[in-house]
Amino acid sequence: MAQAAQAPVVEEIKNCPACKKPLKKARRFYRNGAYYCNNNCFKKVQAEAKAEAAEAAQAAETAKAAAAKEAKAVAGPSEEQASVLMPDTHRSSQP
Ligand SMILES: [Zn+2]
Repeated sequence: MAQAAQAPVVEEIKNCPACKKPLKKARRFYRNGAYYCNNNCFKKVQAEAKAEAAEAAQAAETAKAAAAKEAKAVAGPSEEQASVLMPDTHRSSQP
């Protein structure tokens, strides 16, 4: 079937990731693998990405510190827990 040939050619119009305005072919501004309407919008997205990356790095560091703290807390009372968890299996066979 050659029906696809009859379909109208729709030009793909993407929206600017910064200001969400539709990008027309002649006006789009290509930077770093994405289209923007101008350099200003590109910089805006770059700044946001940078802030996000910094935030993610900070969150990772916080998680790391929290994990270390937790590991310490778990290592402390482990001996106590072992004695509590010891089961009295010897009386299970008695009626
Ligand atoms: Zn824009």
